[in-house]
Amino acid sequence: MPPAASKLLFGTAGVPDSTPQTSSIAAAAHIHKLGLDALEVEFVRGVKIGPDSARELRAKAESLGIALSVHAPYYINLNSAEPGKRLQSQDHLLRSARMAREMGARSAVFHAGYYHAATPGETYDAIKKELAQVLSILKSERNPVRLRIETMGKPSQFGSLDEVLTLCQELDGLAPCLDFSHLFARDNGKANSYLDFHRVLSKVEKRLGREALKDVHIHISGIEYNQKGEIRHLNLPETSYRYDEWIEAVRDLRVEGMVICESPAREDDARMLKGLYQNYSRKS
Ligand SMILES: [Zn+2]
Repeated sequence: MPPAASKLLFGTAGVPDSTPQTSSIAAAAHIHKLGLDALEVEFVRGVKIGPDSARELRAKAESLGIALSVHAPYYINLNSAEPGKRLQSQDHLLRSARMAREMGARSAVFHAGYYHAATPGETYDAIKKELAQVLSILKSERNPVRLRIETMGKPSQFGSLDEVLTLCQELDGLAPCLDFSHLFARDNGKANSYLDFHRVLSKVEKRLGREALKDVHIHISGIEYNQKGEIRHLNLPETSYRYDEWIEAVRDLRVEGMVICESPAREDDARMLKGLYQNYSRKS
C-alpha cells in the first residue's frame, strides 16, 4: 500500500536519470531513497517487461511503499483509418493493462489517437467504440487496473479536457489522466493561474463526481509550445508555468491520488512539487 502520510503521491515518469542502474526495480529503490512515492513505468516503446520481472517489481515496490502506474505505447491510434492498426491499438492497451495488473499498478495511461481528416465528433465516436470493446474485455477478465485517457498537448490529437471528461462519463471503467502541461500547451499558454487550475479541477469534480478528485492521475512538467501545441518538455523552474499556484489549487480542492512528473530532471521537479505541497499544507 502507498504511504499513508500523504494522500497525494509524487513520482516520476520512467527511471530518473540519477538512478544508478536503468531498471524499474532500481528506479523504485531510488525513488524511495529520494523521498518520493510513485513510479510510472514506461511501456511507451512497447510492453517489453515479462510477467516474472513485473511480479519482481511489484514485490519491490510494495516492500518500499512505492505506488506504480504504467504508460501504454505511444503508437496507439484508436482512430486509424486502417482496421489492423485499430486492432493493434486495442492489443497494446490490453497488454499494458494485463502487465499493469501483474505489477500491482493501479492505472494504465494512454494517448487515444489523432483526428486526421475526421471531425472531432466522428473521432469521438470511433474512439469510443474501440475503447468500449477494450473495457469490456478487461471487465470480463476482472482486471482492476484503471484505464486512463490522457489530455493531449497538440490540437491534432484527440484529448481536449471536454472530450476526455465526456468519454469518462459515458464509458464505465474509464478515468482521466489530467496532463496539465498538455492542457497548457494545447491552449497556447492561456490558462496559467490559480483560477484556471481551480476551474479545471472543479470541472472534473462537476462532471465525474467528488470521487474523481479523490483518485486523480496527473502528469506535469514545464513545456515549450507554439500554435501547433506541445513541442517538448522542460524543467518547471525554467518556464513560466505557475506551479506554485497549481499546487495551491490542488491543495485547496483536497485532491488525492498520484502526480507524475515528466520534466527532463523529473526527480528534481517531483521533489520540488512535493516540498511545495507539504509546505502549503502546513500553512493551511
Ligand atoms: Zn502521456
